[in-house]
Amino acid sequence: MKFYPEKCRIKDERMKPFIDPDELWDYINNTRQDPVRVRETIAKSLDKQRLTLEETALLINATDTDLVEEIKQGARDLKKKIYGNRIVLFAPLYIGNKCTNNCKYCGFRASNKEAIRKTLSDEEIVKEIEALEDNGQKRLILVYGEHPEYDADYIAHTVRIAYSVKKGHGEIRRVNINAAPLDIEGFRKVKQAGIGTYQIFQETYHPEVYRMYHLGGKKKDYDWRLTALDRAQEAGLDDVGIGALFSLYDWRFEVMGLVRHTNHLEACYNVGPHTISFPRVQSAAMLDFEGKYLVSDADFAKLVAILRLAVPYTGMILTARENAALRKEVIQYGVSQIDGGTKLELGSYSQSLNQEQDLNREQFKINDDRSLNEVIDELLENDFLPSFCTACYRLGRTGEHFMEFSVPGFIKRFCTANAILTLTEYLVDYAPEETAKKGWKTIEENLIKLEGFQDVREIRNRIERIKQGERDLYF
Ligand code: SAM
Ligand code: SF4
Repeated sequence: MKFYPEKCRIKDERMKPFIDPDELWDYINNTRQDPVRVRETIAKSLDKQRLTLEETALLINATDTDLVEEIKQGARDLKKKIYGNRIVLFAPLYIGNKCTNNCKYCGFRASNKEAIRKTLSDEEIVKEIEALEDNGQKRLILVYGEHPEYDADYIAHTVRIAYSVKKGHGEIRRVNINAAPLDIEGFRKVKQAGIGTYQIFQETYHPEVYRMYHLGGKKKDYDWRLTALDRAQEAGLDDVGIGALFSLYDWRFEVMGLVRHTNHLEACYNVGPHTISFPRVQSAAMLDFEGKYLVSDADFAKLVAILRLAVPYTGMILTARENAALRKEVIQYGVSQIDGGTKLELGSYSQSLNQEQDLNREQFKINDDRSLNEVIDELLENDFLPSFCTACYRLGRTGEHFMEFSVPGFIKRFCTANAILTLTEYLVDYAPEETAKKGWKTIEENLIKLEGFQDVREIRNRIERIKQGERDLYF
């Protein structure tokens, strides 16, 4: 096995590609199943230390059923220990589906001539956001195809619209982005518009497989995409999200790629990604993929648990691509953010479209189409604390200056307290009676647990102020 020193990586130069497929495969192929070391590795992670590539491969190679259970239990324990029981909620908003690329897995690909192309007008964006606010959403991720129309100025423009829309007590307090890679100047522009996270998925970290799936347009360029978040960092945008589209290639390799990407950002910029996403390919118009690497539900649960342990301090996002039952299971292994009330069809939050789901109107098919309130109901029933908190980024607690993880008691003092306050707003403004009953009970239970960590009297005081009409109170 080759030796790749983790600490003094000459390969980790700023703005330079950093994936060496042989390196990643070497780790996977030459790290043997070893129960003792697996347990030590889980313990290291529970001690809040990020895992090395070799340790990640060790977990990947653990196939014994009991050992996999221990990995999952480790992820559950870590989630409880670090993140508590809160789950942050958001919704995606598709702004435009014009696209010059030809990704073989995506319904928006340029060669799909049946796709109904649309870019929301400014007025339509306002309507969509009002509808989202009416449901109680506070955090959005705006999504765009890759097209000259959707340049940095346009993205910044739509972000500003999103922040400007206020309806009743409704407002959007954090706007994240999922769009094509920009140049440094472009990232600067969107940062100035006040975005939260800029999310770009590498899709597959394997360069040759990447080439097979990306047939045209700018997205063909693997390196341009791989170094995108370096350019974001160079532009001062230190809040970035990475991801891989699972099922395109061997899931074990993609997990290693995600950890390698994390190492790279840490080595060069002293800050890891804010979030990791792990979508699996879903059915889409003109979907053209072999299915050779389809990730089973069991492997999916395992890989989520491994990612949780490998990068203990990074947020993990699980989307409505997965069905409700699977989401319910996988959330336990370390997920910190989910979407609720998701609709992918352009303009569909504000219109009640009676037509059948039509793949030519959507990028891919989602499998969890429950309303935000239904998602919240289930979270409450399972002792999770739904949160719409946006405090950290608004108080500048991002990037290397802040890792919620590294400050003792931080989660309880700030995250849980803010989750309670934002849930209070939801219960007062939007929840039906039954949900409100469950919500108040959850709030009481969590307040009791906060004794000794936060001034519970002050939280109660703020809950009363919210009931009296004040909003946006946070720690
Ligand atoms: N167009 C931009 C891009 O490709 O980066 C941004 C948005 S794209 C609409 C968001 C993500 O959706 C892609 O990065 C890809 O991982 C995912 N996606 C595309 N087709 C999918 C499918 N059939 N099933 C699940 N996810 C898919
Ligand atoms: Fe375009 Fe993104 Fe779909 Fe690729 S994944 S075809 S870039 S919208």
